[in-house]
Amino acid sequence: MTEAFADLCVERLGRLQKLMGRTARHEILDPFPLDPHDPIALQAAAKRIADFIGLRGRTIVVVASKLADRQGGRIEIEPGQDTVFVDVSVDALGFPTAVLATLAHEVTHKHMQVEGMTPGVLGLWEGDYEVLTDIAGVFLGLGKLMLQGADCQAVSEEPIPGGVRRTTTTLKTGYLGLEQLAFAYLFVCAMRGIPSSVCEAGLFGKPLTTLHACQRQYGRCMDRRFAHPDIREQLADVPRKPILEAQEVLARIDRDLLYLQAACVQPLDAFLDVSHKRLRDMLARLRALAADDEVDPCLRFIGAVRLDREMEGRAREARDLSREAARHQRALEPLTSGVQRQGAPFADPAAEVFTVVKCRHDGTKLRVRENKPRVVVHCPQCDYHFAADTTPPRLPRAEAGERSPWWRRLWGFLRRGRA
Ligand SMILES: [Zn+2]
Repeated sequence: MTEAFADLCVERLGRLQKLMGRTARHEILDPFPLDPHDPIALQAAAKRIADFIGLRGRTIVVVASKLADRQGGRIEIEPGQDTVFVDVSVDALGFPTAVLATLAHEVTHKHMQVEGMTPGVLGLWEGDYEVLTDIAGVFLGLGKLMLQGADCQAVSEEPIPGGVRRTTTTLKTGYLGLEQLAFAYLFVCAMRGIPSSVCEAGLFGKPLTTLHACQRQYGRCMDRRFAHPDIREQLADVPRKPILEAQEVLARIDRDLLYLQAACVQPLDAFLDVSHKRLRDMLARLRALAADDEVDPCLRFIGAVRLDREMEGRAREARDLSREAARHQRALEPLTSGVQRQGAPFADPAAEVFTVVKCRHDGTKLRVRENKPRVVVHCPQCDYHFAADTTPPRLPRAEAGERSPWWRRLWGFLRRGRA
């Protein structure tokens, strides 16, 4: 039996409860003795089953007929018809419990038709409708008959010269497997609060062991606590704690991300913008001074001295900026290598990510060839030239598992030799 059947069965029982719940009785018909070869007994059995499920005012005529292989029974159904003809396979006559199960299925068919539950109304194909009929039989209290007759075996012995010939005949009835039937039956009993002593009374052999196995496997669906009036609130409470716990972890990630943004990403971004603006201003000023086309030799002299002094001052300023930038870069480095060392869930970005660089002066995005550690980029919008690095960040060589060069290994070897 599959989990999918369990879901289907529960859904079908929900439909049946809505359609027949108000009239269906909560008792279960116990299996009763039957001689299938006695035509009168067959009619009486069908009538007993029909009366039990509340199908009254109909004459049920049961006839033993030769039916197609694997077909246990057949019923002729016409709207408004008072006499109902049921065929039972002559092959089943050796199995009284199988005949009772077949009668239960066929009588259920008639009852469903009387109740207006036809395949067309329910929107079901024939196969699905037969499965629903089996479930409906259980719903109407015929579960024991159906379980006990679902999977029959008979052993016959015949004396032959030198011993006895044993013949084992098996017969399966209905559209549900024994396990599926057991699930439907246990579920109906659990839903109606029928105690297991009542549920199991009169069952024996394989149906009973299957019932026990099903109870062990699907006991969770049969739990009596589902009958509690406040069960929905109780169940809705169950995931609340793990949901809250998950949200708390997400909140900590969110807070840490905000921290990284506010403490690291945003200040560094601002530092890059300000630094590049300063550098661009420097370049623009130097270019303006160098472009002086003075013809007076003295003024040219003075201009050159001013340019030299300006150059000196700007170079100092650029070196200061470079040192400040190096401090920022050193502070950032453990973060980037920490992320790389961590690996999953942190992604290893594709090389293309680093090929789009931004002009920090005016925000223009520019595409640059990948894997270039030192490339000078020219922004056509603002005419700013700046250096870019399109290589993805790498862990230090030794950490990345690469071999150090031969000379370093030799040097290490010699030093160890000396010590
Ligand atoms: Zn630009």
